[in-house]
Amino acid sequence: MPLYEYYCQHCNGIFEEIRQMRDSSDPSPCPECSREAPRMMSTFAAFTMRDGYPRRIPDKGTYWHMGTEVKQRAKRMKGFEHPELAKPKSRPRPTRGDVAAGRDKALSQYSEAGYRDKWGVDQYGFGTAKTAKKKKKRKTTGG
Ligand SMILES: [Zn+2]
Repeated sequence: MPLYEYYCQHCNGIFEEIRQMRDSSDPSPCPECSREAPRMMSTFAAFTMRDGYPRRIPDKGTYWHMGTEVKQRAKRMKGFEHPELAKPKSRPRPTRGDVAAGRDKALSQYSEAGYRDKWGVDQYGFGTAKTAKKKKKRKTTGG
């Protein structure tokens, strides 16, 4: 006959009892106080609820999510997806058109900068320090 474990809440003790399998789920009288003690569920693959989340006994400090072991409890879940189990989202690769557009933009910005430099104007249309210097030079040399 198999051996079963029973827990007496009154004595806060565990005792073992050899019982028939069909009687195993029934409470057994405690040998100390002879109160009815419920059978301890097998620690094998047993779950306990902690923080409102199932954890497996023995408690390794891990949580269980949809049958998968996770280190942390999901705080913010997208649907039923646990953040630890969610697949990393791949960034959308830039298409050939996007690359060409970016290159064109950079080129136009570069040529624009050269144009502005030539005329001594910044991107807002104001004269740069270069032109201011030039004007001063002209005044001194010309006068
Ligand atoms: Zn007892």
